[in-house]
Amino acid sequence: MADKMITHTGGCHCGRVRFEVRAPARLPVSECNCSICSKSGYLHLLVPADRFKLLSGSDVLTTYTFNTGTAKHLFCSICGVKSFYVPRSHPDGFSVNARCLDPGTVEEMAVSQINGREWESQYPEGRGNYTD
Ligand SMILES: [Zn+2]
Repeated sequence: MADKMITHTGGCHCGRVRFEVRAPARLPVSECNCSICSKSGYLHLLVPADRFKLLSGSDVLTTYTFNTGTAKHLFCSICGVKSFYVPRSHPDGFSVNARCLDPGTVEEMAVSQINGREWESQYPEGRGNYTD
């Protein structure tokens, strides 16, 4: 995808956690059926670490881990919203919750499905790629 990158901003519900992320205006996002994503309704925008910048909130983020412990689920300890985290599929990058982006910069979202429930068959190489 050769779409040009723009800066989106977003954050948690109470506003303590704020970030910016470089991504196209037409966002490639994915929905995952694993135990935690399906319960929280998380919509993934996967980006390399250099396209994500945490602006505020490092002092209120709480980390939750389970299973292999590779994924670092980062919740705001005040409002409970997971606006971004470090996913098991992309441990060197970030997954931003596309539902937590501010309105105004996203033109549309192209949603694809991730079969995280069967993680090993979804990611036979042990990790995923970035879409652009
Ligand atoms: Zn919050």
